[in-house]
Amino acid sequence: MRCPYCRHADSRVVDSREADDGQLIRRRRSCPECGKRFTTVEEAVLAVVKRSGVTEPFSRIKIVGGVRKACQGRPVDEDSIALLAQKVEETIRAKGAAEIPSHDVGLAILGPLRDLDEVAYLRFASVYRSFDSLADFEREIETLRAAARAREGAGAGDGAAAAGAAGRTN
Ligand SMILES: [Zn+2]
Repeated sequence: MRCPYCRHADSRVVDSREADDGQLIRRRRSCPECGKRFTTVEEAVLAVVKRSGVTEPFSRIKIVGGVRKACQGRPVDEDSIALLAQKVEETIRAKGAAEIPSHDVGLAILGPLRDLDEVAYLRFASVYRSFDSLADFEREIETLRAAARAREGAGAGDGAAAAGAAGRTN
């Protein structure tokens, strides 16, 4: 690997260690020309297979972009979006596959987005699942209501939890 300081064409690995539970390898390198040290990170490329069959590297930036669009005008801050994207990436990487269909990436976004903001979720789901009628929205909203009722039911023995769930869904 080329030295980022003096552009010397070669460098020497002086230390390698695994990080992130073995998903990454960090290497400490030393330049024989200028003597400076730098770090590289090696990780397996996760490919996303689009419907057309074309693959592209998984991109957390893209997830953030898509979710941010769905959250436009909603009371959702950038930190929450970044956290969601991180969660999605962790979910996908945890599958341990080298390739993942883009459909599955969308699926991994839907769950956490629903917890974050139901309106943003509906927007995202309408594009992702290609809603083309009011009935599609009605069905999805009914599913959201049923989930909210289930949460309230589950928290019935705990007044504070039930009130919290009701507050979020109103
Ligand atoms: Zn150098």
